[in-house]
Amino acid sequence: MQKKTLANYIDGTWQKSAASEYQDVVNPATGDVMAEVPLSPPEEVDRVAQVAAAAADSWRRVPATERVQHLFRLKTLLDENIDELARAITNENGKTFAEARGEMVRAIENVEVACGIPTLMQGTVSEDIAAGIDEMMIRQPVGVAAIIAPFNFPGMIPFWFLPYAVATGNTVIVKPSERCPMTMHLAFELLEAAGFPPGVVNLVNGGPDCVNAILDHPAIDAVSFVGSTPVARHIYARASASGKRVQAQGGAKNPVVVLPDADLDMTTRIVNDSAFGNAGQRCLAAALAITVGEARDTFTEAIAEAAARRVVGYGLDDGVTMGPVITPQSKARIESLIQTGLDEGARAVLDGRNSPVAGYERGNFLRPTILGDVPPGSTIARTEIFGPVLGLMHAETVDDAIALVNSGEYGNMACLFTSSGAAARKFRYEVKAGNIGINIGVAAPMAFFPFSGWKASFFGVLHGQSHHAVEFYTQTKVVVERWPKEWSRKF
Ligand code: NAD
Repeated sequence: MQKKTLANYIDGTWQKSAASEYQDVVNPATGDVMAEVPLSPPEEVDRVAQVAAAAADSWRRVPATERVQHLFRLKTLLDENIDELARAITNENGKTFAEARGEMVRAIENVEVACGIPTLMQGTVSEDIAAGIDEMMIRQPVGVAAIIAPFNFPGMIPFWFLPYAVATGNTVIVKPSERCPMTMHLAFELLEAAGFPPGVVNLVNGGPDCVNAILDHPAIDAVSFVGSTPVARHIYARASASGKRVQAQGGAKNPVVVLPDADLDMTTRIVNDSAFGNAGQRCLAAALAITVGEARDTFTEAIAEAAARRVVGYGLDDGVTMGPVITPQSKARIESLIQTGLDEGARAVLDGRNSPVAGYERGNFLRPTILGDVPPGSTIARTEIFGPVLGLMHAETVDDAIALVNSGEYGNMACLFTSSGAAARKFRYEVKAGNIGINIGVAAPMAFFPFSGWKASFFGVLHGQSHHAVEFYTQTKVVVERWPKEWSRKF
């Protein structure tokens, strides 16, 4: 396979990076090197920031109704090219083609929602706040917005932000994950075809140095980040220190609670998908299943059987239902965490280590792993594993289960499986997490709801997607007006 050298997209043109360092982009299933991505230096970030800042003034003057025409065109282009985008995702990230396609559907939904900007960014007016005086609140773009993305949804996550940022009149710089940069390269070919004026949408590839240059740059006004919690904390602190508004979505350790009155077949099917879909590399993956009462035995048996049936392999091959994890380092880390769990007293219900896939010996494959009797407070109970590993814990009552859920550091998602409305209401009311599922295993908010992580899963105030994104990318301006009657000319 020929190795492609990826470029940056700056000021409406594809430009070879000035980088002296490049990183290989490797297919995690086959081990093939598909491309090399530039690790753009701070000078290149400076150039792209200047370009985006220069384009911002004219872009905000384009009427919102015209700005969204580019998004309507983009939506059609994304629809027409969805299979190609999905193949790119599978090849660089490892998830199955069906999962990759589903990811792009979610991306496109955000474009659709942002097409409503002429209404979504409307302000408010109060007449006669005092006699003859009116007051209005209008929304104006913040200027230049940067989007820094993780590897696990290379097609979707930049679209939690980009459509809203440009629709509200900002210019944008996207910095994809250096591990999975090829999908955004393709998406930017479509953004180019959608006809955005030069400088409105820009792509800069790189690693931590490139990110830090973004965080410090005075011409960049807003930073949207999604990634691991340690990096999210760093982004939030450093970008705020340079006066930017920041939203930083972090990692997760999502618990699902299974009550004895849950529908066992449905629960098993849904938790199996949540824990092992995308090889567990979803920030909304079920990482811990907490059974209550007699659900312990029935659920443990059922989930072990269902997980063992997953077909692991290259995501473009027919019949494959789980792909590899992203890198050999990630695989080694997951294997070592499984061992730590066993050393800490957990029981191997299903051990997915040491299971290569025939024909793909260079792939980073693990099979689903289930650890039973995970001790509360242990490393495996607290640590985000980000791989196909489900820990099982047990609680005697719903209250105990909710206390276990709330004892975690993260607050991205928590789910409950039950047929009791009262238990569901209690869970929804008391659980300290931002995305709640009731008989749902991946409580991913639709594009018209905010992606509401809490605690160590989110730093900031306004989340990605929907009206939160509109508020994040606009600043409010309040105008108080008086027009004395006597100044009116008689017509
Ligand atoms: P990551 O934090 O390693 O990387 C994310 C981005 O940060 C990348 O663009 C990377 O280049 C940059 N980066 C990495 N280290 C940096 C550093 N030291 N300084 C500056 N920038 C740095 O995350 P990842 O491994 O790509 O993605 C997986 C993580 O993302 C998981 O923790 C997962 O839970 C989380 N995630 C969260 C959400 C959410 O909505 N909360 C969604 C998807 C993924």
